[in-house]
Amino acid sequence: MTSETQGGDTIFGRILRGEIPCDAVHSDEHCLAFRDVAPQAPVHVLVIPRRPIPRLADAGEDDQALLGHLLLVAARVARQEGLEDFRLVVNSGAGAGQTVFHLHVHVLGGRPMAWPPG
Ligand code: AMP
Repeated sequence: MTSETQGGDTIFGRILRGEIPCDAVHSDEHCLAFRDVAPQAPVHVLVIPRRPIPRLADAGEDDQALLGHLLLVAARVARQEGLEDFRLVVNSGAGAGQTVFHLHVHVLGGRPMAWPPG
């Protein structure tokens, strides 16, 4: 794998490079899914691309297939976790609550979800 696909310089990059452990629930050539260390619901999994896109706002046309893949994997993980209903969250930018600047999809489920989100 090239450095481009090794995850970049964030904590998620370090997880992708195997430098720090994670509780993985799915792995393929394009993405990794693992349990959030501070779960906000009974099921809380993060799906991240191996390619380090900082924010969803930084994704381009070339990322179309990858973004679709992340959503399909998120739904597959939800099913695998026994969830019929689930919520996906992508925080893009600090003002939206993003704290790790490596694109990730939160998969949340196992409790009722309120709307609007905070
Ligand atoms: P966000 O606030 O959308 O950027 O989400 C970042 C998420 O990463 C938070 O829900 C954190 O709990 C989670 N997180 C941070 N470090 C780790 C880690 N080492 N392993 C698993 N999840 C993490």
